[in-house]
Parts: sequence; structure tokens; C-alpha cells
Amino acid sequence: MKIKRGDRVVIIAGSDRAEGEERARGKIVKRVDHKKDRLIVQGSNLVKRHIRKGMTYRGERFDRGQIINQENWIHVSNVQLCCPKCGPVKVKIERTELPENPNRPNGPQFFKKRVCKKCGHGFDEKPE
Ligand SMILES: [Zn+2]
Repeated sequence: MKIKRGDRVVIIAGSDRAEGEERARGKIVKRVDHKKDRLIVQGSNLVKRHIRKGMTYRGERFDRGQIINQENWIHVSNVQLCCPKCGPVKVKIERTELPENPNRPNGPQFFKKRVCKKCGHGFDEKPE
């Protein structure tokens, strides 16, 4: 999966499909489930959850019973990464060789960077 927590994505399928201005801005990814290839996207795929008084739900304790809107999981195939210039795009992975680091002999040999296929915008900056 090419999407990480904190990325901006555009939903491209389903009833929450982004249209107009939203396609340029995208929405923030809050959680990623790498085993099941699913995401929680801020403010998307809302479902109603019935909360009982005194119940703890997703780390939050509720003093009174209520119905809340909560984001539900979305499959990765329904979103695309949002390039700040182009909107929803496909990305390719660019690998650059890292200089050998004597402190970490078994460390990574390549730095992988996600790049927009249209304009070449890089999504990941190289760590120093
Ligand atoms: Zn782009």
C-alpha cells in the first residue's frame, strides 16, 4: 500500500466520492490498516454509532447516551493520493541509493520516495 497516516487522499468511488473543489484538496488519512488494506479518512464514510451512558468508545468516555457520527473504514482501492498541484494521481516509487552507514550495517540500502506520475511532485522528503 502506497498510503501512510497523515497523507492527503481523494476518494474516487462510492457515495463519498469527491467532486469539484474537494478533488484538489483531499482529506487527511487518520489511520491505516496494512493487513486489511483499509483506511480511516477524516470526515468520510460516516456511520452512526449508538453510545450508551458511561460507555468508552475509541478511547473516549461518554457521560450521556447519544448517537454520534463516526468514520468507518474505506478500502485503499477507493482512494488516490492527492498531489497539491494535480489533485488525485497515481504515484510511482523512486529509489535512491543511500550511502553506507557504519552505525547501521544492516540498515536500508535505498531511500524510497513516492512521486506524482504527472508532475513529479515528491511526497516523501529524504531524512537527513
Ligand atoms: Zn502532481
